[in-house]
Amino acid sequence: MKLIFEEGAKGRRAYKIPPCDVPQKALSAILGKNNLRADAPALPECSEVDVVRHFTNLSQLNFALDTGFYPLGSCTMKYNPKINEDLSRLAGFCEMHPLQSEEDSQGAMQLYYELERSLSAIFGMSRFTLLPAAGAHGELCGMMIIAAYHRSRKDYARKTIIVPDSSHGTNPASASIAGFTVKTIKSGPDGLLDLNALKEALGPDTAGMMLTNPSTLGLFEKDIMKAADMVHKAGGLLYYDGANSNAILCKTTPSLMGFDVVHTNLHKTFSTPHGGGGPGSGPVGVVEKLVPFLPSPLIAYKNGKYVFEKENKLSIGKMRSFFGNFGVLVKAYAYILANGAEGLDEVSTAAVANANYLCRRLSKAFTLPYGDNRCMHEFVLSGQEIKDKYGVSTLDMAKRLIEMGYHPPTIYFPLIVHEAIMIEPCETESVATLKEFVDAMLTVAKEAKECPEKLHAAPQNKPVTRLDETLAARTPVVKAQ
Ligand SMILES: *Cc1c(COP(=O)(O)O)cnc(C)c1O
Repeated sequence: MKLIFEEGAKGRRAYKIPPCDVPQKALSAILGKNNLRADAPALPECSEVDVVRHFTNLSQLNFALDTGFYPLGSCTMKYNPKINEDLSRLAGFCEMHPLQSEEDSQGAMQLYYELERSLSAIFGMSRFTLLPAAGAHGELCGMMIIAAYHRSRKDYARKTIIVPDSSHGTNPASASIAGFTVKTIKSGPDGLLDLNALKEALGPDTAGMMLTNPSTLGLFEKDIMKAADMVHKAGGLLYYDGANSNAILCKTTPSLMGFDVVHTNLHKTFSTPHGGGGPGSGPVGVVEKLVPFLPSPLIAYKNGKYVFEKENKLSIGKMRSFFGNFGVLVKAYAYILANGAEGLDEVSTAAVANANYLCRRLSKAFTLPYGDNRCMHEFVLSGQEIKDKYGVSTLDMAKRLIEMGYHPPTIYFPLIVHEAIMIEPCETESVATLKEFVDAMLTVAKEAKECPEKLHAAPQNKPVTRLDETLAARTPVVKAQ
């Protein structure tokens, strides 16, 4: 692709700025002589159409959900209704000043208050804070609440957070940043929580346990009630990582499973695109006894008005400036209202049905190490057998999928599955799309056997072929050379 710097020609313009009508003398008096440049900067000179083509072409170098299927496991890359983007851009929301008075902010405060109540109902919690800006930020907030709870009881020995080895990488990181020691427990042979391992890990130092249910393997933890009971009896609290809540919406709640603290990602489950580099939101909900520790502000409805509550003296304080990423909250609110409880229930039914369809069909060509042909909203295959037999790695197969027009699934995660291929189709895809994807995956499996060199060399039809991904991530070169 040609870069803008190579296009254009001297004197070409999109817009003309009127000539400067401030005398040179006055300018140097105001700005200081040293700050005035002698020559115009050597910028590319382009017409409007040059610029439009440049950026439109650049935008299409990225794979996008708007152009194709994106079954990236543990990421919930569902299609998000465009109307919610429009709503979040209504002037009354997006042009508000965060320092506007209570009186002047009643509409926004109502939305904030009602979204908090909706999330509390969906997750079975007493109250939510909408401040955290991402999933990991929500985890940190939840960990700080758990620490504050134990401190308020002068229970200073509780310094350990337990996580299973299938947990999302942010879990141990958040617990550690909040000052806890992390104890990892091994999953059982079925990929589920091993109650014996949990029993051994529990003790007077246990502050709590972080868990995702369905787990990162896409399996429902059938012993969750027993596990919750064990953690509580040992004096710990239970944290629910609900970043991808697509399997449980209006089917069950973390509180029914015994959890005390939960976060969810509005930028996965509730209608904000994920992975686009834009802002996110990771609200945190808690059971009644933890409400005093929530960060401020919280909003109450009193005498017909929405008001900011006085900060509780046990509150962990501020997690973020003002009211969090407000535009993301507007989209979540609109999505929840448009679906209602019945619609959200259908979202989960369809998300789980779609995943099971793919799981059944693909487990004939790839190994399904856990799950007995059943899954929740996602599942994890292993490419180890194909690698052993034909020397084709999961990475090779993912690159071939790119060539075929798909965003590959999540690969090499979770770590407990060798050559992992983690697939989450979401509820917004049709059976026709799923069938086409199965065909593509089966073609890849066949090619691994018949023409492995084709997979080693993929992708061939893209602007770049194989990249040194570590180098690209650590030392990005973001300008033209
Ligand atoms: C995405 C995800 C997170 C982290 O969310 P971020 O917004 O990326 O910080 C945490 N846990 C699970 C299970 C996730 O899928």
